[in-house]
Amino acid sequence: MDLFTHFLIPYIILFFAGSKNKLEGAFGGISIDFDVLLVFAGFLFPEIFILTHRGITHSFIFGFLSVLIFLYILTRKQIQEFVGKIIKRDFNLKFTWKTVLLAYFGVIIHLFLDYLTTGGLPILYPFTMERFSAHLYYYIDGVTTLISLTLLVILYLKINLKFKKIAMIIFVVMLISSGAIRGYEKVNAFNAFEDDLEGDFSQISTYPTPNMFVWDTVIIDPKNDRYRLYEYNGITNEKLFQGAYEGLTVENGSYSSALSAIKKANQITEVQRFMWYTDYICINAKFENNQWKITYLNFLGGHYTNNNLTVYVN
Ligand SMILES: [Zn+2]
Repeated sequence: MDLFTHFLIPYIILFFAGSKNKLEGAFGGISIDFDVLLVFAGFLFPEIFILTHRGITHSFIFGFLSVLIFLYILTRKQIQEFVGKIIKRDFNLKFTWKTVLLAYFGVIIHLFLDYLTTGGLPILYPFTMERFSAHLYYYIDGVTTLISLTLLVILYLKINLKFKKIAMIIFVVMLISSGAIRGYEKVNAFNAFEDDLEGDFSQISTYPTPNMFVWDTVIIDPKNDRYRLYEYNGITNEKLFQGAYEGLTVENGSYSSALSAIKKANQITEVQRFMWYTDYICINAKFENNQWKITYLNFLGGHYTNNNLTVYVN
């Protein structure tokens, strides 16, 4: 979800709850996306791949730590004056236990909104690295971003509070409606494929695309590790077959030696990072020139990584 929406949702909730510290909540809402700064640290320590955008700060524990530091810095006098000058508004942010908790409330809203998007978050880190996602929204929703920016401008302007209230209500209604449409379309895509289940192909998963009516649908055979990928259009009811994939294919060599080569390859940082970002991994192991060429494929397509990764193991 975009930065404007992350700022606005806690702001609106705290506004209608009558809180004096709605700005602290709103800034808390954007605090953990400053993890883009961590991307540089990620270059220095590539083996710690949680140091990335939507990585370590997008967890309950480190989210708290991040917002604590963020609010502390933001409430220093010079920083507040500097930011105040840029946006031409005076604002008096406070650093107290209450405001820290309200800012953390902004973080919780942020985690929830990002959880709805398809990238997934390691919210339970450091207990587990697993990424959680509801796969409802695509990474960035262009329309939502535009509407959020418009509302932010309206709230910034010195106009009658009544208009601001109406704008906020319209915004919330639009956001909830778009979420409801996406939810409906997701279920619709799921139901459309129920007749396609046959034999060991017993599971269906759906993934959002930038178009809220178009869903990537995977039909899964968990027993034999096989997948079929379709693109489903909820308006035309069309199913476009994209391809069939197998969890493991071995060429030119013995199965057991391929497995031990894959085990070795799985230790490589690059491979671990690739797998961390990927919901389905299909591995092709090919023995050529006295070494194993191991290719990892993410057939759903990568957003933070390439679609495939090849490594060589002796
Ligand atoms: Zn985020």
